[in-house]
Amino acid sequence: MIRLLLFIVALMFVVRAEPIATVDASAPQEHRKLIALSFDDVPRMRGAFLTPQERGERLIAVLKEKQVDQAAFFLNPGQLTEYGDTKGATQRIKDYVAAGHVLANHSFTHPRLANISAADYLSNIDAAEIWLSRQPGHRPWFRYPFLNEGGKDMAKRDVIRAGLKARGLLNAYVTVDGSDWNMEDQALRAVKAGKKIDMDALRALYVETHVQSADFTDAMMVRTLGRSPAHMLLLHETDMAALFLGDLIDALRKDGWEIISADGAFADPIYRMAPETPYAAGTLAEALAWEKGITGPRWYERNNTRIANALFAERVLHEKVP
Ligand SMILES: [Zn+2]
Repeated sequence: MIRLLLFIVALMFVVRAEPIATVDASAPQEHRKLIALSFDDVPRMRGAFLTPQERGERLIAVLKEKQVDQAAFFLNPGQLTEYGDTKGATQRIKDYVAAGHVLANHSFTHPRLANISAADYLSNIDAAEIWLSRQPGHRPWFRYPFLNEGGKDMAKRDVIRAGLKARGLLNAYVTVDGSDWNMEDQALRAVKAGKKIDMDALRALYVETHVQSADFTDAMMVRTLGRSPAHMLLLHETDMAALFLGDLIDALRKDGWEIISADGAFADPIYRMAPETPYAAGTLAEALAWEKGITGPRWYERNNTRIANALFAERVLHEKVP
């Protein structure tokens, strides 16, 4: 009888303990891993496997299927005529917006800041903004081509930073990069060379690389900021994305990541920071870690194309790598 009473009392305690625990503000915060998706170089040149039309349709379909409500597409409107597909590309861009996604500025013709004057660079941004500002779904965000913010030239970096500010444009940094453009390039080269591609291995490499990069970056940001920020993943409008994005989203979620909107990610105050480092290029995460003096690698190793290409040859082409 006493045992039964004790049991009931214990049961009451367990039941009552539940709500008390959830309102305990001193409890450590759960580590939420948040990430948004962005696609650069729209419209991008044709890849190895799909037509640009098929690529765009698949991208929209997979984002919808995986319930990613809003991704950001960074455009180079000057390329609309470059790839001789003005009508199709313009329609695809409209389709992205109709599906709930947003458009932003990646310059008019994708110049590298190191190669042109600050004035010409800003004019190039303006030309893209004129085109973009007429589009629904437009956001006042600018992403640097090649993630190059001026390299060693700090005066130039500051002119462009000030120019963006004067125009009300956010520096739409990325935090997570897996150099997907290079994997796309490797696949294109292999197909042109008549090599056999192991598509399952390519899918696995694409997914693994981006999940690894996200986790590497998040750990580095926790050391740098003392918290996990809202991350921004850099992808490109590639065949790889159209073919493997669904698997990547599944893998990220399985790894504890929550996919959030681009609007949601850029609301994080880290995207208003202007890191001061001896060289201005790359991801915001690398720059912030560098500025803070974080030791150890600040650069996800597969962004080194030598390492990435050896992995591609070995795992996707089954070639012997010396
Ligand atoms: Zn680009």
